[in-house]
Amino acid sequence: MNDDYSVAPLWKLSNDGSFNAKATWNHVRESSPSLYLYSIIWNNIVPRKCSFLTWRLLKGWIPVDSILRTKGMQIVYKCQYCSAYETLYHVFVDCEVAWNTWAYFARLFEVNISKHMSIRNC
Ligand SMILES: [Zn+2]
Repeated sequence: MNDDYSVAPLWKLSNDGSFNAKATWNHVRESSPSLYLYSIIWNNIVPRKCSFLTWRLLKGWIPVDSILRTKGMQIVYKCQYCSAYETLYHVFVDCEVAWNTWAYFARLFEVNISKHMSIRNC
């Protein structure tokens, strides 16, 4: 019997034939064109928790009262700060606390902001 032959599985998705999770993921995933907005959100400068919060905000996946109510949760839906109807827009833009925070950083970075601006248009 000749021992020169060795049998080993060959993973065709990698260059060296070894299993590679990244190559597999890239093969099976549905890729879509990357948006400029996502390159701003997902980069090495922005902390991951901020990237996730922004991404969830854009997807509407923040559990504010107005969204929880659409899922059938019966809750009193009001802002914990000002008692206004709690929506994503209210929590992140319209509430006095949110707006004062945005205004503070806008002044700090010398940026003009308006409540009617949208990062979705990037
Ligand atoms: Zn409020």
